[in-house]
Amino acid sequence: MKAIEKIRAAGIVGCGGAGFPTHIKYSGEAQWIIINAVECEPLLRTDRYIMRHNAKEIIAAAEILGKEMKAEHVVIATKAEYEKEIKALEDAIDDLRSNIRIHRLKSFYPAGDEQILVYEVTGKVVQPGGIPKEAGAVVSNVGTVYEISEALKGRAFTHKLFTVTGDVEKPLIVKAPLGTELLSCIKESVPYREGFSFITGGPMMGKVRTFDEAETQVVTKTTSGIIVLPVRSKLEKGSELKISEMLLRAKSSCIQCSFCTELCSRHLMGHPLMPHKIMRKIAFCSDVEDILKEDDVKNAMICSECGICEEYACPMGLQPRKINSMLKRVYRSEGFRFENNSADTGVDPMREYRKIPSRRLAKRLGLEDYYETEIDDIINIDTKIKKVIIPKKQHAGEPAEEVVAEGQKVKCGSLIADCGADRLGARLHASIDGVVSRISKESIEIER
Ligand code: SF4
Ligand code: SF4
Repeated sequence: MKAIEKIRAAGIVGCGGAGFPTHIKYSGEAQWIIINAVECEPLLRTDRYIMRHNAKEIIAAAEILGKEMKAEHVVIATKAEYEKEIKALEDAIDDLRSNIRIHRLKSFYPAGDEQILVYEVTGKVVQPGGIPKEAGAVVSNVGTVYEISEALKGRAFTHKLFTVTGDVEKPLIVKAPLGTELLSCIKESVPYREGFSFITGGPMMGKVRTFDEAETQVVTKTTSGIIVLPVRSKLEKGSELKISEMLLRAKSSCIQCSFCTELCSRHLMGHPLMPHKIMRKIAFCSDVEDILKEDDVKNAMICSECGICEEYACPMGLQPRKINSMLKRVYRSEGFRFENNSADTGVDPMREYRKIPSRRLAKRLGLEDYYETEIDDIINIDTKIKKVIIPKKQHAGEPAEEVVAEGQKVKCGSLIADCGADRLGARLHASIDGVVSRISKESIEIER
């Protein structure tokens, strides 16, 4: 079986973002394969753990991907400050006599944004609204490459490694079956207080959640981290603002200083996105519908939602990112597709000086106490888990459709849901041995 078929059979999707099906990403050819080992979200440690402990698997799988795609360059992009991880990767490269190159980056946010990474490594700019493949590159997170290495051995994607950190006694890397309730994972790290809020993902792009959601949300293929928040953190307060309040604040408090645009990670790449202009239009309109046809506002579609504008740049504590996100939802609901009509202005000459240092960012977020935390302890909670609820959609594209029935016995790794080969989606497998106890529109439950 070809590598790409093994990847599809195992249900591999991107572990670091929206869960794009990997077998589709790796169809065709590419000049560059870039392994994203930057882990630029402050506090997350999963990718670094994988690099230290699974360097050989990463290099071997990256070699196979390079051959599959007929790539001229296979590069692992990581931060120069990750010295132990680079040493592990270099040793693996030597052992396997590989030509894979390591590209060292400064410690800035959002170095792991695909479009920024392509520019840092290749010097090519992905056009606004475009994808890395248009610039000849395919980018995969190092965690995804680890899962690919498992798929190449014939193992399905059934368990996920992720960081649990923040306001906890024991920051950990947790390995859990897909579909595990989040609270079971968080408890392993012993949170310092009851009723905590937490983030799924990183502090910049993740989602702030209430304690109750720890019992309703489950581990998926894209779970990269859980950050338990300290009491009434800046991020928790920010998440409570309603969109109507954000719009009112924009109208009353935006001073048009344009710091949000000057530090915008996509604007600095020469993309036409200018959040201060969107905020100006928002401030002077009586109804958002009135400004949707304006080009400056349509540029919200190319916002990466990195959060720099609102968590770092804005001196008034406003929310350009969340307003862009709201505009994107409106445009998508109306079937609008972004087309770039702007002249190419080139990368901003000030870009190098406006990169956001990761440590300073953590301080702004009120998370500096956890910034230095090194995590080398891992716990596999597989045997403690008696029931999993596996969402049918944990990837970009269409939900997978069940191929099992209630009452059917399954083994860990058995196929339970599939997507046709011609559709955008990914297969799902049982993550524990047991019996299918319930199938709903959204999920498949398995009990031991
Ligand atoms: S979130 Fe803000 S800084 Fe980031 S790309 Fe969007 S507008 Fe720019
Ligand atoms: S940084 Fe804040 S105050 Fe300044 S233009 Fe942007 S949204 Fe307005």
